[in-house]
Amino acid sequence: MASLKTPHPLVPWFELVWYSHNIRRMSFILWLAIRGRLSMLDRVHLHNPYVGTFCVLCSSFPETHAHLFFECAYSKAIWSHLKDMCGRPWNGHSWPRFITWAAQRWRGKSPSIVVKKLCLTVAVYYIWR
Ligand SMILES: [Zn+2]
Repeated sequence: MASLKTPHPLVPWFELVWYSHNIRRMSFILWLAIRGRLSMLDRVHLHNPYVGTFCVLCSSFPETHAHLFFECAYSKAIWSHLKDMCGRPWNGHSWPRFITWAAQRWRGKSPSIVVKKLCLTVAVYYIWR
């Protein structure tokens, strides 16, 4: 019989989401966003064809994770306000590439790293909300 406590390897972005100063409910939303599991309109539309697919923030493009967090003009404005605090990490990166990039570089518990992680977590939470 297999044990339920069998250890599983950590995903590379584990420390990007779960760290000592995180805000759990916001980290949970970031976790869902990284896994592509937030209820975006493109996903909702699959189950309810009467729901539109256009982004609720700009009404110009289909609402996907990539669009909502990086391509939408509204989100870009938020990131541009945060870029000095977080070192301009998202210019030109797609959502998956950015997460990989940040997970490789934002390691450790120094105040500057924690601030970068908090910026990401809070920005993703409020953009999604
Ligand atoms: Zn948009």
